[in-house]
Amino acid sequence: MAVRTILTLEHPALRQKARRVRHFGEGLQKLADDMVETMRTAPGIGLAATQLGVMERVFVADLQEYDEDPQSFKLFVLVKPEFVRIGSEEEEHEEGCLSIPGYVGDVRRATWVTVKGQDLKGREVRVKAYSMLARVFQHEMDHLDGVLFIDRVDSPDKIRKVQPQEAELATA
Ligand code: ZN
Repeated sequence: MAVRTILTLEHPALRQKARRVRHFGEGLQKLADDMVETMRTAPGIGLAATQLGVMERVFVADLQEYDEDPQSFKLFVLVKPEFVRIGSEEEEHEEGCLSIPGYVGDVRRATWVTVKGQDLKGREVRVKAYSMLARVFQHEMDHLDGVLFIDRVDSPDKIRKVQPQEAELATA
């Protein structure tokens, strides 16, 4: 496993749409391992492949250090994820992004989503996520389409500058 460099805001790769993953094999396993290592080292609670400049539809999420909800006590690795359903109720909550260090924003997101995708062996995975896990999933899905949280705020005054240690765990 290796920690890779997380691209930041000015990098054009963050604004591109990721492609479908075509090969399930060693390369994908290595990418996922590096993503998990990079996310945990940052530390963050989610990471999309595009944040490492890899334009493939893969994200990882791990809220074990952050959330008390037992649903979150798990490492998620989702390949070719797509929304099956998006809850109609939304809530606004602070979030940050490992690619936009030093800033957080209040972003409206659906309170729950169902996402389906594949695991590293190509088997179908389906997760109904609530609360912070749902937020992270939506944040990472956005990354795979070149969208950042700063695009999602209702107005620019919902973005704040913070000390890095204040934002630490709620970033993805
Ligand atoms: Zn992010």
